[in-house]
Amino acid sequence: MAYELIVVALGGNAIKQANEKGTTEEQFKNVDITAREIAPLIKKGFRLVITHGNGPQAGALLIQQEEAEEYVPAQTLATCGAMTQGQIGWMMQNRLSFRLKQEGIDRAVCTVVTQVQVSDEDPDFKDPSKPVGPFYTKEVALKLKEEKGYVVKEVKPGVEKGWRRVVPSPEPIDIVEKEAINDLVKNGVIVIASGGGGIPVKLNGDGSYSGVEAVIDKDRAGFKLAQAVGADRFVVLTDVEKACLNFGKPDQKELDFIHVDEAEKYLEEGHFLMGSMGPKIQACIRFVRWSKKEAIVTSLHKAGDALEGKTGTHIVP
Ligand code: ADP
Ligand code: MG
Repeated sequence: MAYELIVVALGGNAIKQANEKGTTEEQFKNVDITAREIAPLIKKGFRLVITHGNGPQAGALLIQQEEAEEYVPAQTLATCGAMTQGQIGWMMQNRLSFRLKQEGIDRAVCTVVTQVQVSDEDPDFKDPSKPVGPFYTKEVALKLKEEKGYVVKEVKPGVEKGWRRVVPSPEPIDIVEKEAINDLVKNGVIVIASGGGGIPVKLNGDGSYSGVEAVIDKDRAGFKLAQAVGADRFVVLTDVEKACLNFGKPDQKELDFIHVDEAEKYLEEGHFLMGSMGPKIQACIRFVRWSKKEAIVTSLHKAGDALEGKTGTHIVP
């Protein structure tokens, strides 16, 4: 029997810890820790397609674009997406290849810089929802709005630097490089794809694609990737072992195995915060509905146990 094909979505902590500056050395160290968790799964026989976030990296790049504009032109958001995919993809293929070799496994690891199609009719273009880049004072935020046409919002009311640029976070429609990704997967290559949610592109009348100023949620794009490769399971690895009801409250309750209908009900009831756990559960629900197979949310360090059903939140058909 062919081994199980799993799409794994890695969260921000796989690449940068919250308390770190984000130097190259720090990021490599984190990616190496991640690679040491992932390599044993491949040794067990799971076939993996890996995706990952890019929030802190894209945020840092945006600061560099703004601060250096006097000398070199600022690059677009789509270009920054491409740059961070290349950066993180390199770190992952570098460390994962090495850790696999150490496990005695001879497997190719390859990053596909992935474009993800979105619709410019998506409602989020009218009312952008995703904060990106640095925090600003109200004064600076309004100046950027005036000068650059940014949409800015107060995201932390009452705080001096409580303003941020917000950009559209449209729904992913299609993985443009899905054929290339599937060819690699069929040939046994461990593929890293759709990093940071992919480079958002729109399809033009002449069949070409062009970048759009938006950011796609990496968990939602992760589901589209899982669909594109026909994954047997979809696993979201973050910094908590299980998703909870009443998160952060005294009556918080960890979820183990829940039916997809239950997950949907809890999502509607607002148990999973929209900027964090919400899109993960949403992506899992979409996967389970589409595949009639399970999806898991757990922490990076519990991935192996969760795949054996010993821990994690399992959303089941
Ligand atoms: P990642 O960077 O891995 O994509 P996020 O930081 O976006 O992850 O989301 C994970 C975080 O979601 C957790 O650290 C936790 O603080 C938060 N969270 C929100 N709602 C819940 C919930 N219901 N159960 C567990 N964690 C939740
Ligand atoms: Mg996080």
